[in-house]
Amino acid sequence: AEERTHDKDRADRATTELVLDHRTRLILAKLLKKGYFDEIYGCISTGKEANVYHGRTHAGEERAIKIYKTSILVFKDRDRYMSGDFRLRKGYCKSNPRKMARSSPMTPASIIHSAGIPSPAPIAVRQHVLVMDFIGKDGWAAHKLKDAFQKMSTDDVHIRQCYFELVRYMHIMYHQCHLVHGDLSEYNILFFEGHPWIIDVSQSVEHDHPHSLNFLRMDCEHLNSFFKTNRVRVLTTRELFDFVVDSSITPDKLEARIAQLDAMSSVRDISQLQEDAVFAQAYIPHTLHEVDRFEEDTLALARNKGAVPEQIYYSVVTGLSAAVAEQQKRAEDDACSVTSAA
Ligand code: ADP
Ligand code: MG
Repeated sequence: AEERTHDKDRADRATTELVLDHRTRLILAKLLKKGYFDEIYGCISTGKEANVYHGRTHAGEERAIKIYKTSILVFKDRDRYMSGDFRLRKGYCKSNPRKMARSSPMTPASIIHSAGIPSPAPIAVRQHVLVMDFIGKDGWAAHKLKDAFQKMSTDDVHIRQCYFELVRYMHIMYHQCHLVHGDLSEYNILFFEGHPWIIDVSQSVEHDHPHSLNFLRMDCEHLNSFFKTNRVRVLTTRELFDFVVDSSITPDKLEARIAQLDAMSSVRDISQLQEDAVFAQAYIPHTLHEVDRFEEDTLALARNKGAVPEQIYYSVVTGLSAAVAEQQKRAEDDACSVTSAA
């Protein structure tokens, strides 16, 4: 009992400056007792849904502690985002969603971090409290991308490098992590030690989530518009999207393909960049089951000898191109057999 009082005192001392409810204090006290951190200092960020604090372990390692405003909010969101997605994963407890955070070894943050994408390693999750690596130094959090480039010259090659690095991470996130960030922008990317770090991944969805491709298109739009504002010769939203979902780009081909895109876009005048207005508005079906007109579209494509009509934007995603090639081959074979029969 004495030890418990002692822990509670330490926890109280560590958190006195912070305005926290009782339940949050208890969770923090437990995390502190387990050694995930020893002190919590000031608030790094106050947001609509969460506050982020800076902490330090006994050994002096820095930590970021993200406390969601109310667990109800978080779990409502979580339910929305998880329908048809993380729910199916091992560790998700249907009767008690709160258990999930505790028992599931795989959260978006851990999947993304394990894939080698610069992002804070999650260290502990308890209900609405997340302890993770601190991205920054000596209590100074790294700048958001939004602010990071303000002091650099806009034609600084690093900004362009940073863009293509992010382009690569998006591909890795989609194909290796099977995730779409869903809120990727200059606000959720930190710039630290010369690299972009991806944060705030808790709302990510699996790549076969019913809305994942719409989220992905939004992520592409946001990323491009930020870099374009910084006068980087970016890809068009559609080029970026098509690259990210292209499964023919295996990890061994990734670098070469990016170099190609880099070279191709580097000689274009961005003020003349032709954004694809149809693509921006297009409904993107996710699977062939959703494509009623599949047959029709396939035939239309075959008639155009593989040239993609503007209204068909899902060819790469659904493997429609492959289907077309097949169809065309069959058509040619038929033509041959007709000729030979005659
Ligand atoms: P929100 O849900 O409020 O958008 P974020 O996860 O985006 O929360 O974090 C908000 C801010 O807190 C970030 O922009 C960044 O400044 C800071 N932050 C978040 N996580 C970390 C971290 N691991 N290391 C350093 N700073 C962080
Ligand atoms: Mg954020």
